[in-house]
Amino acid sequence: MTTTARTEPADEEHPVTDAARCTAAHPEDPTACDGGPADAVLILDRQEHGADGCEHHGARLLASVDGGRAVSGPTSPGAAIRVTKAAADLAPFCWHEAAPGLEAAQPSLAALARCATVPDPAVLYRHAPDLLIEAHELLTLSSRFLGQTLAGEQNDPEELRAYLLRRAVQSDRVEVGGMFGEAASRAQAEESFRLLADLDRAHPHLTPAGLTAPDVEAPYEELRAYVRECYAAAPWT
Ligand SMILES: [Zn+2]
Repeated sequence: MTTTARTEPADEEHPVTDAARCTAAHPEDPTACDGGPADAVLILDRQEHGADGCEHHGARLLASVDGGRAVSGPTSPGAAIRVTKAAADLAPFCWHEAAPGLEAAQPSLAALARCATVPDPAVLYRHAPDLLIEAHELLTLSSRFLGQTLAGEQNDPEELRAYLLRRAVQSDRVEVGGMFGEAASRAQAEESFRLLADLDRAHPHLTPAGLTAPDVEAPYEELRAYVRECYAAAPWT
């Protein structure tokens, strides 16, 4: 299960697609590989399922796996120790935390035009599930994707998209409701919007007819409008 992926050093603001990353990179983790070997470290869970990774993603995965351990890769002596130390300072699923320094950009005219046609969230989300129940289901799904990654299986892009859309909608609803403090919930919402847009740019055939995913530089308002359009177009709304 060795991969040959090598990419530029991590850049938090410019996520890369999974195809270019090591197998330890969780699909929701927007960061790039660290530029070292993609098999610097092998992360194993209790069932001895494993994923090879760069040290950066290896540490982030190890911090998220219950009872996991690290094994140094063939060309990276000491990697397991470095990764285990780094993981000790990381929260599980640390990519869910708001990325620091995400400032609101000025919306473009195209973004404003898009926003003007988007329904009011109070109307749009009136039949959406209870926030707590949805949070629980999203966590279950997230764990399943992580399990697939550890078992060396590909996440199904269609299932992943449905999950990312639900997560983006959840973040939007939390942000609209002003539940966890404005800055934190906005940054978290922006991150989840970007993950959906990134996936849709990589898999345009999964995007609802008539919609085009915003580009990498798109400001918050445009991303949010896109998420709401996708929700309105989703088969389950
Ligand atoms: Zn990596």
